[in-house]
Amino acid sequence: MTKVTGLRPFYMMKLYSSQTINDIKTRHDFRFAKSLGQNFLTDRNIIEKIVEGSGIGPDDFVIEIGPGIGVLTKEILDIGATVTAVEIDSRLIPILQETLSGYDKFNVINQDIMKTDLNGIAEANKDYANIRIIGNLPYYITTPIIMKILEDRVPAASVTCMMQKEVADRIKAPAGSKNAGAISLAVQYYCDVTQIARAPKEAFVPSPKVDSAVLRFDVLEKPRVEVPDTKVLFDCIRKGFGQRRKTISNSLVGAGGTAKEDIKKVLEETGIEGSRRAETLSLEEFAAISSAISEGGFNG
Ligand code: SAM
Repeated sequence: MTKVTGLRPFYMMKLYSSQTINDIKTRHDFRFAKSLGQNFLTDRNIIEKIVEGSGIGPDDFVIEIGPGIGVLTKEILDIGATVTAVEIDSRLIPILQETLSGYDKFNVINQDIMKTDLNGIAEANKDYANIRIIGNLPYYITTPIIMKILEDRVPAASVTCMMQKEVADRIKAPAGSKNAGAISLAVQYYCDVTQIARAPKEAFVPSPKVDSAVLRFDVLEKPRVEVPDTKVLFDCIRKGFGQRRKTISNSLVGAGGTAKEDIKKVLEETGIEGSRRAETLSLEEFAAISSAISEGGFNG
């Protein structure tokens, strides 16, 4: 039975309007949890841009991270796609069951996304045209969520995420540029990255302190560079950027368990100047270093 507020059922309403959100808050005695990064989208244009830019079609299966009260979810369901949403806050489950009650292609799992078996969900739904992941991510765990999706190798045709603008700028910064960080290289190892929208802080209730941007990740069929051991590559990237002011002959010490004198040998062998800093290295150079560590047995 479809529940109603006023005269109209929820599936006919603008879920994204501040008025609807306030009405839901009052009736459910719901308070935003800052600790869970709860900033709900209220701008129709931005919601449309995200969903359009994600490439979701009617025959797709979508995993949504943190549906909130369902503003993005509703837009995706209106395309005809099937959605499984993962929401940590149990107070939002009855709200979602109400706001999306007119949709039979919607299902919500009350769980922490970091503990969710995304590959299991993808495997159970592999007969859909594409698996796609989408989410207006909680700010406090943006990077861990993105890294989990990529490192778990979830077979998603695209991953579309809203995040703080500064984090998006860092992620899309090309390797070798000043703004590049460990996350930029790690993400670019697995995928192509495109910014598809920006959202000022006023586009949310409550308003966060910073503006946001939406990135779309298109996962490559195989990683951008070939290395014998991804863990050693990621350890080099993490160590290199962990102490970005140090030269790589110092910051890479311990990467993949490699001793200082062996890092020197690795750098000589690869022809990479030890006086450089991590932010000047390309992904290919990190790959060469990590391959030399693995192949030279320095990590044993
Ligand atoms: N999608 C909604 C929107 O755009 O209006 C809400 C986005 S809000 C920025 C982030 C959502 O993620 C909240 O609903 C929050 O409760 C949920 N969340 C926070 N931490 C989570 C976690 N670890 N696992 C799953 N959901 C989480």
